[in-house]
Amino acid sequence: MPLTRRNFLAGAGSLALVGPGGDEMARALQRRQPDPVVLPGFPFTLGVASGDPHQNGVVLWTRLAPDPLAGGGMPPTDVAVQWEIARDEHMRQVIRRGTAVARPEYAHAVHVDVHGLAPDRWYWYRFRVGDWVSRLGRTRTMPPPSRRPRTLAFAFASCQNYPAGYYTAYRHMADDDLDLVVHLGDYIYEGGPGSGPRRHDGPEVTTLDAYRNRHALYKTDPDLQAAHAAFPWAVTWDDHEVDNNYAGDVPEDGGPSEPFLQRRAAAYRAYWEHLPMRVPAPTGPDMRIHRRIELGALATVHLLDQRQYRSPVPCPQVISSAGPVCDAVDDPNHVLLGAEQQQWLADGLAASRSRWQVLATGTVMSELDLLKPSEPKFVNLDQWDGYPNARAQLLEAVVASGVDAVVISGDIHASGVGAARLDYDDPDAPDIATEFVGTSISSTASSAFGTLVDQIVESHPHIQWADAAHRGYVRCTLSRDEYRAEYQHLDTALEPDSAIRTATSWRVEPGRPGATRTG
Ligand code: FE
Ligand code: CA
Repeated sequence: MPLTRRNFLAGAGSLALVGPGGDEMARALQRRQPDPVVLPGFPFTLGVASGDPHQNGVVLWTRLAPDPLAGGGMPPTDVAVQWEIARDEHMRQVIRRGTAVARPEYAHAVHVDVHGLAPDRWYWYRFRVGDWVSRLGRTRTMPPPSRRPRTLAFAFASCQNYPAGYYTAYRHMADDDLDLVVHLGDYIYEGGPGSGPRRHDGPEVTTLDAYRNRHALYKTDPDLQAAHAAFPWAVTWDDHEVDNNYAGDVPEDGGPSEPFLQRRAAAYRAYWEHLPMRVPAPTGPDMRIHRRIELGALATVHLLDQRQYRSPVPCPQVISSAGPVCDAVDDPNHVLLGAEQQQWLADGLAASRSRWQVLATGTVMSELDLLKPSEPKFVNLDQWDGYPNARAQLLEAVVASGVDAVVISGDIHASGVGAARLDYDDPDAPDIATEFVGTSISSTASSAFGTLVDQIVESHPHIQWADAAHRGYVRCTLSRDEYRAEYQHLDTALEPDSAIRTATSWRVEPGRPGATRTG
């Protein structure tokens, strides 16, 4: 289809651009469309993606990058990108199409917020620039809140350090029977070349250009592209999207916040450019990404940001980020989600009428005392264990709203099943929110943690199972009567063609926090 003013305007009515001044941009585009440009090569090297689905729409994503690992290779001009979305995989019943503008200031990334789709069904989409056509992506809308209960399935994943292993888990995920993928963070790692079967192609990234090239390196992986092309995603971040273990405006190595906030701005912007999110593009070091995804009447997924607003850990950290819990964590000014997000979450839990409240958080919520039973408690202070007041406030909101809450978390490159509680000193204290900790896609588990796993399970009444030996993802299948979690474990992520198997299965029933093993 040639790009003409008429077919551009036909699409403009259904097109909303995500980003600063979206309306302004749409109006400006109606006045003038970019001149045709000649691209130096195939521009869709990073694949396609979709995300943040609701009952009538979804965000479609791509980025034009003929030379993906070296800045993209695009001319420094606006480029018109045609998109179309169809009811069938042969693209015969196209129901929406339009033109978006890829702008050099956003690395020629495109986010199209498509509206007006029918609820609860699959769609197929693709992009085109001139004669270049992207691969086909598949996505879907969510059921409306009124729809009779049915089953929905999502996978959750985290921690995909590129050098540490292959993304074989994503190849298997792409073939799985899912409706959504939730990513809990460490989508990229900022560090240098690394070790394992692959290498980062440069030193630690700190600038916008370098973060863009790092995201592009990850996105060139065919297995990651396949998982993005197969399902809509809902993403939140943890630390490595910017800097290991950073807290708010404080970098890993401490130091002044001003240069770090410039780095954070670059990292957040590159993250926005490379992921299919319905949030405005950041214009500085701040980017509000906590938001909700509604899975009809079955579940509300609360995507939490437990990184951007947190206070730095006030206790001595003896081994990496682990150390004894100190009294300073009880200071009322020591926060994790921040006051605004904490209130947003409490309000959301109180207002939601869906069956399951899924709390998607990068780091582990339940207490994990690494040296139990010796005293004092020795925990990873980068997890919720470093922020016990934030955890208590959240769990009190769960109790007050009477909801069925399930925490999904990552970060520790290990699998675990347990439950968050308000009291960890009384072994008979009730479970408040079931927690499923998902292992990494490729990142290596700490060997020290591996040797402690059995002892941790034995000494913690609220932890039922753990495994640090496998990489993979977790499949969650939700119905009115049951929340099922199945741990999908690779034999190894160190070789490219590993098989995957269900290591163990768990179920949660409404009104009864805590999981029961079923397989
Ligand atoms: Fe990680
Ligand atoms: Ca992390």
